[in-house]
Amino acid sequence: MGQTNRADQGITNLQEVLDALLHASPLAIIVVDSNGLVRIWNKSAERILGWSEEETTNRPVPVDSQLLLHSEGETDIRVQRKDGVPIDIEIRTAFWREREGHGTVAIFSETGRHRAAEQKLYDVEEELERVATREREARGEVRIERRFRELLEAAPDAIIEVDREGRIVLLNLVTEKLFGYRREELLGQPVELLVPGGVRDAHVRNREGYWNHPATRPMGGNLALEGCRKDGSRFPVEISLSPVRSEEGLRVTAVIRDISERKRAEDQLRAMRENYTRELELRNREVEQANQLKSEFLASMSHELRTPLHTVIGFAELLGEEIEGPLNEKQKRFLGHIHKDSMHLLELINDVLDLSKIEAGRLSIQREVFDVAKSVEEALASIRPGAAAKSITIETEVPVSTPVLADPMRFKQILYNLLSNAVKFTPERGTIRVEAKVRDPFVEICVIDTGIGIPDEQHEAIFDKFYQLGATTKGVREGTGLGLAITKALVEKHGGCIWVNSEPGKGSRFTFTIKIGKPE
Ligand code: ADP
Repeated sequence: MGQTNRADQGITNLQEVLDALLHASPLAIIVVDSNGLVRIWNKSAERILGWSEEETTNRPVPVDSQLLLHSEGETDIRVQRKDGVPIDIEIRTAFWREREGHGTVAIFSETGRHRAAEQKLYDVEEELERVATREREARGEVRIERRFRELLEAAPDAIIEVDREGRIVLLNLVTEKLFGYRREELLGQPVELLVPGGVRDAHVRNREGYWNHPATRPMGGNLALEGCRKDGSRFPVEISLSPVRSEEGLRVTAVIRDISERKRAEDQLRAMRENYTRELELRNREVEQANQLKSEFLASMSHELRTPLHTVIGFAELLGEEIEGPLNEKQKRFLGHIHKDSMHLLELINDVLDLSKIEAGRLSIQREVFDVAKSVEEALASIRPGAAAKSITIETEVPVSTPVLADPMRFKQILYNLLSNAVKFTPERGTIRVEAKVRDPFVEICVIDTGIGIPDEQHEAIFDKFYQLGATTKGVREGTGLGLAITKALVEKHGGCIWVNSEPGKGSRFTFTIKIGKPE
């Protein structure tokens, strides 16, 4: 009996345990019999669906019983709670045999809660990610900030940042070194601390003005800027400004370069250049003086030479006239040599005299208005014998009464020089032609020959003194190489110019201009 009792007791206890489990289960458990009436409705079912055990026991399932009881195996379904709110549940159903039919056991839990938990988890993860990103960004900013610092300190120039009120808010090591202040002494101080006393007020004004046109530009235009050290000493600087928009508002960055070294080098260079120029001027003056002396010497020498030469020529001519007695052929030939070479020497001396006068600036010209045609005829007259000797034809195309304003003697000298060269450098039976054309305010005069011509590269050099190109038509050098130099100087003294067009073998055309003569 006792055994049976114990067994009964045991069974009773097991029932209680099962009941307790049934109601403590976090899973909702519903048992429906073969008549469709609820037999078990545990606490979790009550919690999830809203209906109490009392409301449901021995009654049909109040919710979507079709779905609850006819879903098969393990599945997700949506049902309506007592308050009408739809909820998702994860359900597992099983049948149990009972008298004629079968009942159903449904065990389920709310998936929404998992979802909510999942969502929560997801939210937490997202938040964690956000925090991580923020941290990464912060680390990046720190890196940029560090990089900026490094750059700032590595710069060879002093760099300061100044706020809208002109207070120093940032500076690098070079600034400390350059101005002799410690960082703490500068931070928050007006930037004028670094400006020499005399220009501080102006600096404040200019600083205010900068905000009207905040642009990257050098400071002070062409002004020589100076910085002021803590000990009051000044040094030349070059400053470039640029506006910076920061979170704290508009600021300006000033890059300050100490240009003492450069200034020193520039000053040295300037001093050297000045010295050099002075030296050069001195030398030039010496050369000028020497030149002047040379010209004066030549002028007086030429004069001294001309006098005895005139005597030689005069007496040679007298002898040639045979008034003092007849000469034999040999004597006549000797006399001819003496006369010819004396004349050549006289020409040379005259040229040297002219040139030295020109170079000493002592050549004066007497201008008057006269007719070109007449002057051309006179110049031609003196070369006709030489031209005739070489059967050279002479042509002129000079309009009648073309007045020029010039020194008549010098004008003739110009023409004569060109014409005698033309004769000298034109072979037998050639042609020499003189043309004059009015090109207001000048008269353009050309001496044209069919002579040996001048190569292109010599067209300028022939006007240099003592320049001689080479052999004449006679195959020997004649003349002094001074003719064209004097001619050019004379033309220019008259305010005109001279040039040559020429081609070897074809001939030359020398053209010069001279002022037209206008009646007063
Ligand atoms: P030169 O006393 O030798 O004639 P110029 O100064 O008058 O000195 O001329 C310089 C040189 O220019 C001459 O030696 C000659 O070579 C060249 N030259 C001048 N005129 C002519 C010309 N009409 N035809 C060719 N060559 C010429």
